[in-house]
Order: sequence, then structure tokens, then C-alpha cells
Amino acid sequence: MSFTVAIDGPAAAGKGTIARAVAAEFGFAHLDTGLLYRAVGRRMLAGEDPVTAAQALRADDLGDPDALRTPEIARAASQVAVIPEVRAAMTDFQRAFAYRAGGAVLDGRDIGTVICPEAQVKLFVTASAEVRAERRLSELLAAGHETDYATVLADVKARDARDAGRATSPMVAAEDALTLDTTELSIPAAVARAFAEVAAKRG
Ligand code: C5P
Repeated sequence: MSFTVAIDGPAAAGKGTIARAVAAEFGFAHLDTGLLYRAVGRRMLAGEDPVTAAQALRADDLGDPDALRTPEIARAASQVAVIPEVRAAMTDFQRAFAYRAGGAVLDGRDIGTVICPEAQVKLFVTASAEVRAERRLSELLAAGHETDYATVLADVKARDARDAGRATSPMVAAEDALTLDTTELSIPAAVARAFAEVAAKRG
């Protein structure tokens, strides 16, 4: 039996933390779909055509997720993500993951709307751009990147605009998604709300 939890929302709102916590709590597999776009973005930065790169993506490309979590690769990811052929090349893989036996959590931008509109649980995790920029800044500094608040805030806003404004699979909450706004709600409180939602739907 499959059971899918779709978690969408903008960068640094807490999606990844919530997704990992739900997967651990309920024993579901987890896929951070942003890594797929980041892997294609990295190949584009290395000079490859993004469509060819998306069609040739292999498990190896995702082998070192931390190496994909740089601001340059995030920017490149959101550039390749506007290309319909790039998105199409990665759809089947994400759907197969969503419907695997034993349950799956996928986090991204279009999981509840396009990849898995039948997901039993849909969450849209968001927060103000300022709060997200502060969180992302702490993560980047902790990982040894040299940057500052103004740069990170500008990146967050540019990525939001590109992700929400693109024609194919824009970032938008599904009509039946539960929105968790972590501007005021703490991440542990948001995780607790997510657990309650999954438990209620799983019966
Ligand atoms: O979630 P993350 O910040 O790793 O995603 C990087 C970029 O990949 C996003 O800004 C977005 O443009 C793209 N993406 C997407 N659809 C997804 C996941 C990520 O378009 N399902």
C-alpha cells in the first residue's frame, strides 16, 4: 500500500526538517526533490545542456547532497527548473518514488499540485522572506560559506519570484493543502502539526 506525504513551499521555510521528521516518525522513505534540480543545475554550471543533463541524471549525481547545497547551485537549480523538458525528464522518477510501497515523503515545489495530486497528506510550508533569509544565512555560515544577510535575502526573493512566476509547475499551494506558516510557528510546533495531520489521514 502506498501513502504519500507531499510537502511544498519556498526555500528555507522548514520543509526539509519537517519532511525528514515525518519520514523518521512513520518509517516512510524521503526524497528531497530540490536535489534533482540542483544536480541538473550543477551539470549546467559545468557546461552541459540542462535538458540532456536531466535526461542523463543518475543516482551518483545525488551522492553528496551537501556539495549541492551552495548558493550558486541553488540559483542554477531555479534557472533549469523553468525548462519544461527538464521537469518532464524527472517526473516519472518522482512519481515512482511517491507510489512506492511503505509510504513516501517528497518535498519540493510542485509535489501536491503536479507530481502527486492524489497524495493523502499535502502540506504547504511557508514563512516570511526575512525569516527564511535569517535561517538560510545561519545554515550557510555554519557550513563555512562566506555571505551576508542582504545577499541571502536578495537570493531568496529572486528564487521565490522565479519559482512562483514560471509557466510550468509554478510553486503554489494545492487547494487542499494544509498551510504551515513558520514565521511565528516554531519548527518543532510545525513538525507536531505535520505528525497530527499524517496520523489523522493514515487512520
Ligand atoms: O528545495 P531547493 O531549494 O533545494 O530547490 C532548489 C530549486 O529547485 C528551487 O528554487 C526550485 O527552482 C527548484 N525545484 C523545483 N521543483 C521542485 C523542487 C525544487 O522547481 N519540486
